[in-house]
Amino acid sequence: MDDKYDVIVVGARCAGSPTAMLLARNGYRVLVVDRAKFPSDTLSTHIVHPPAVAALQRWGILDKLVATGCPPIDTYVFDFETVTISGAPGDVTATVAYCPRRTVLDALLVDAARQAGAEVREEFTVDELVFQDGRVVGISGHQRGGRTSTERAAVVVGADGRFSLVARTVGPVQYHEKPPLLCAYYSYWSNLPMHGRFEQYARPARGFAAAPTNDGLTLVIAGWDIAHCEANKHDIEGNYLATIATAPEFAERVRGATREARFAGTSVPGYFRRPFGPGWALVGDAGYNKDFITAQGILDAFRDAQWCALALHDALSGTRSFDDAMRDYQTKRDEHVLPMYEFTSQLATLEPPPPEMQELLTAMAGNQPAMDGFARVNAGVTSPAEFFAEANVGRILATAS
Ligand SMILES: Cc1cc2nc3c(=O)[nH]c(=O)nc-3n(C[C@H](O)[C@H](O)[C@H](O)COP(=O)(O)OP(=O)(O)OC[C@H]3O[C@@H](n4cnc5c(N)ncnc54)[C@H](O)[C@@H]3O)c2cc1C
Repeated sequence: MDDKYDVIVVGARCAGSPTAMLLARNGYRVLVVDRAKFPSDTLSTHIVHPPAVAALQRWGILDKLVATGCPPIDTYVFDFETVTISGAPGDVTATVAYCPRRTVLDALLVDAARQAGAEVREEFTVDELVFQDGRVVGISGHQRGGRTSTERAAVVVGADGRFSLVARTVGPVQYHEKPPLLCAYYSYWSNLPMHGRFEQYARPARGFAAAPTNDGLTLVIAGWDIAHCEANKHDIEGNYLATIATAPEFAERVRGATREARFAGTSVPGYFRRPFGPGWALVGDAGYNKDFITAQGILDAFRDAQWCALALHDALSGTRSFDDAMRDYQTKRDEHVLPMYEFTSQLATLEPPPPEMQELLTAMAGNQPAMDGFARVNAGVTSPAEFFAEANVGRILATAS
């Protein structure tokens, strides 16, 4: 193989940098490019659930994150108006979550890729993929300010997010599609202490959540169902505050706080994309996306990076064929995330919990192991399929009666 690189990764955030880092640590020649210059913010809130914290620990990045002063989160609180569930989200691999600013987290990931030996090219925009005999063999793009270049590799990985140029170009099969179900807007507040809690408030057709982040600030995101998005976007601040006002105690805390940033927000569709084909692969949002209500995207991106890098290692080292290794990656990804995808999509409708769920929530309240279990589902530690299995639900209901 006379390519200069084994793998080129397009996109250097939660999916791209870990993919590049893991491949570089295995000795592969990796180029990772991003049109952004880091540290760089992006349109996203940033709860990092305990399994993603465990990944940061495995990768040797967690200490650096902790050193930024980002406060740990040891309790998830779910206020459903009639019942409140409060539980610990972690397990033995990581007991806490964090909510680091993307300027902080993504820069640490980029640094880790660079330190692992990957060549990182910032402010480089990929304009098109290069094909040969129907196979992706490289990228063509330009450095900010002008210089155009073409680079070749055995595999090009699209870690380029929801609007992925790689996915758009190769046109993968898309499945399990869902339209946007809600829209939400967030900002940062000073003087709004959270005491290690990630608080979520669900109200009919709307809701909000808050978590502590870097620099003594608290992230607060509020949203409403898709039917109200068009009308509400004309007064984002008013609707944001009206949503918070549905929880009077929290609204009182906000009255003593100061908003320190403009609102940012959006809505997103759900989809799975076949994540591989001749000469290409997809990780992170480029390959699979879901509503952000359960804040799974960073964790999913980390897991994709791990599994895709492993599959590419098998393929590049000749242990297995590319198709076999990558089909395995797709199967593992889909089986793992599908129950969470359905759970997330149900929550994102912002409909009141159906009667059987309401009954379960009521039964859970005050039952600490059950509340911890529910927190762990939302944290991506326990599969909804396991937690909502008949036997487990039966146990919780029986304990309450
Ligand atoms: C409002 C909102 C709130 C969210 N909240 C959370 C949360 O609390 N917790 C959580 O885990 N997830 C959350 N998510 C999801 C999370 O943001 C994504 O899942 C995650 O960012 C995916 O990472 P990624 O690396 O796949 O893509 P991205 O973060 O989108 O990164 C893609 C990168 O590719 C680069 N790129 C794209 N095209 C090109 C090109 N042609 N050339 C060069 N570079 C290119 C971009 O510059 C970008 O840096 C939220 C999402 C939204 C929209």
